[in-house]
Amino acid sequence: MNVLTLKNITKSYNSNEPPALNDLSFNCQSSEVIALIGGSGSGKTTLLRIIAGLEAPDYGEVILNNDTLNSSTVFVTPEKRDCGLVFQDYALFPNRTVRQNIIFGKGAMDDPSWINELINMTGIAGLEKRFPHELSGGQQQRVALVRALATRPLLLLLDEPLSHLDPELKESVRTELLKLFRETKTTVVFVSHDIEDATAMADRMVVMHKGKAEQIGTSNEIYKNPMNKNVARLFGKTNFIPIKLIPNAPYSFTEKESNEKLVPVRPHQWRVINDPTTDLPTFNGKVKSVINQVSHKEVEFETSQLNITLHLPTNQSVQADSKLTIAYNAEL
Ligand code: ADP
Ligand code: MG
Repeated sequence: MNVLTLKNITKSYNSNEPPALNDLSFNCQSSEVIALIGGSGSGKTTLLRIIAGLEAPDYGEVILNNDTLNSSTVFVTPEKRDCGLVFQDYALFPNRTVRQNIIFGKGAMDDPSWINELINMTGIAGLEKRFPHELSGGQQQRVALVRALATRPLLLLLDEPLSHLDPELKESVRTELLKLFRETKTTVVFVSHDIEDATAMADRMVVMHKGKAEQIGTSNEIYKNPMNKNVARLFGKTNFIPIKLIPNAPYSFTEKESNEKLVPVRPHQWRVINDPTTDLPTFNGKVKSVINQVSHKEVEFETSQLNITLHLPTNQSVQADSKLTIAYNAEL
C-alpha cells in the first residue's frame, strides 16, 4: 500500500534561477525506507520540507495515506500532517528539558507508555531532566528522534541523519536507526549525500539531480544499471566505454547529449590478459601511471581511443610506460 505519493512536485524559489524541484514524482510503500540521494543543491531538503508542509510547492500533489496534503486547491498545515521530522541540526528547544522537548508534539502526552518504550529503545533513559546543551550530539539526535516518533507518525522524515557523525560511530548509528525504524514499523524518507549510508539503510533510493528524480530503485539495481553518467558516478569512479567496443556488455545507457550508447565499467571490472585466446573483449594500450592503494593498484591506462582507470590486484606487477592487454569482465 502507498503511504506517500508525490506527483509532479515543482518548486522555484527565484524566477531567474532553475527550479529547486522540477516535476518530481515517486511513491513510498508502507514501512519502506527511502533515501533521497544527491549532491548539494539537488533539492533534497526542499522536498523534505514540502512533504512536512514547511514549504509549499508551486505545482504538484502530496498525498499521505489517501489524504491530499497539497494540491492546486489544498494546503494542510504542518501540525495537521501526520509526519515526524528530524532536522539536520536536530532543532531541539534549548530552554526545554529532554522530557519537555519530547512531549512538545500535539498528542504526544496521549500515550506515555509509547514514549517510555521509545526512550528505552533509543537508550536515553535517565537523561529526561537534562537540557540539550548537557547532551552529546548523538544523544541530541536520539531526543529529536523520540520527539519525532512520539505521536506515532505515518511518516518519519530525516534530513542527513548521519552527516554529523564520526566514521567510527556511523556504522553503529545506522544499525540502531534501522532497528528503530523496523521496531516502530515506520515509513521513512531520509536525506543523504553518501551512497554508503543510502545503500546500508534504504530499501530504495531516489537519485536527485538539479531538482529531478533521475532514477529510482534499489542500490544494486542502480549500481548495475545506472541511467546516465551522473548516476553511475554516485558509486565512485566509472569508465564509460562505447558499446561498439564491448558489444556483449550486459548493461548500457544512451547518453542524451551525444545519443551514444555507453557501458558503465567499474575500475575493478578489468584484468590484465596474458592469454591472447580469451573470449573477453580486450584492449591494447599503455600504462600511464600506477598508484598503490590499500586494497588495489589504481592504474591509468591509455588505448588509441580511450583513457581507462583500472583497479588491479595489489600483487599484479605493472609498471608505468609498459604495454598491456586488458579485458573487461562483467562478472567481476
Ligand atoms: P540540498 O538539500 O539537496 O542540498 P536544497 O533543497 O537545500 O538542496 O536546495 C535546492 C536549491 O534551492 C538550491 O539551489 C538552493 O540554493 C535553493 N534554495 C533552497 N532553499 C532556499 C530558500 N529558502 N530560498 C532560496 N533558495 C533556496
Ligand atoms: Mg540539504
